[in-house]
Amino acid sequence: MATNFTFSMLLSWRSLFPHAAVSRKRTLSSVPAGALSFVPVSDSINSVALERLRDFVSRSSRLFVITGAGLSTESGIPDYRSEGVGLYARTDRRPMQHAEFVRSAKSRQRYWARNYVGWPQFSSHQPNTAHRTLREWEESGKVHWLVTQNVDALHSKAGHQRLTELHGCAHRVVCLGCESVTARAELQKRFTELNPGWEASAGGVAPDGDVFLEDEQVLHFRVPSCQACGGILKPEVTFFGDTVKKSTVQFVHDRLAESDAVLVAGSSLQVYSGYRFLLAASERGIPVAILNIGTTRADHLAELKVSARCGEVLPLVLPH
Ligand SMILES: [Zn+2]
Repeated sequence: MATNFTFSMLLSWRSLFPHAAVSRKRTLSSVPAGALSFVPVSDSINSVALERLRDFVSRSSRLFVITGAGLSTESGIPDYRSEGVGLYARTDRRPMQHAEFVRSAKSRQRYWARNYVGWPQFSSHQPNTAHRTLREWEESGKVHWLVTQNVDALHSKAGHQRLTELHGCAHRVVCLGCESVTARAELQKRFTELNPGWEASAGGVAPDGDVFLEDEQVLHFRVPSCQACGGILKPEVTFFGDTVKKSTVQFVHDRLAESDAVLVAGSSLQVYSGYRFLLAASERGIPVAILNIGTTRADHLAELKVSARCGEVLPLVLPH
């Protein structure tokens, strides 16, 4: 009976994530149950590459780190782009476009309804070994600045201070009218008050907190506006089609210019807003190392590439 149960669980897991290898031997002890299905298959760590990465990080005294979705998959947050297990591979859903959000009240209703349902799960994710290790590096003075493309607040939950959230943070809400910023957790209370009895069940949760709902469920969902000015509320997140503030970009360029090495962790750098800092590092002659499963847009700019899980490799890089 127990065997049959295990077998059927395995079957359904395989059918949900057909490209994820279940038989591959991996060190899984640091990964919480349920998170694994979002972690792409990695090669076993190449010891020569690991030794070179240790040397690279040891030599740096002002390390600039740039992180992406690959860092958070080990906390159970799915990645848009990873081969086989990313949302692009598993569903036909696409992330919200900025212009559509601003233009269409219906799109905002749909977005917030899904976001409301996904929030309890999305906001409960915790930092993993990779976040904690980078935080230790910051405390010891190794990290000069850390830039993340993630909007999940896991670096700030881990305690990072020297941090720029390049694409904003889903834990904050901004008013498009008066630009006041409020806590997403507060908005959740307002949603609940405005929508008594509104019930829906969540499917998969996307990196921006999005979930899957039927049109019928969305139709009756009420969306509050800014309490100060009545303006449109939007997550303080850079949607696709929007751009990062010039002042933020300049700030990050300045921190990069003060750094002596760049480490990319868990990003394929497909989005230009992150990739441009690798171009800038290359122009300045700052050496680059990349730790990511799969190819990245900046592989040709790196002197060192390690293809493995961040949570597996980062704790091995520096002595504790
Ligand atoms: Zn306002």
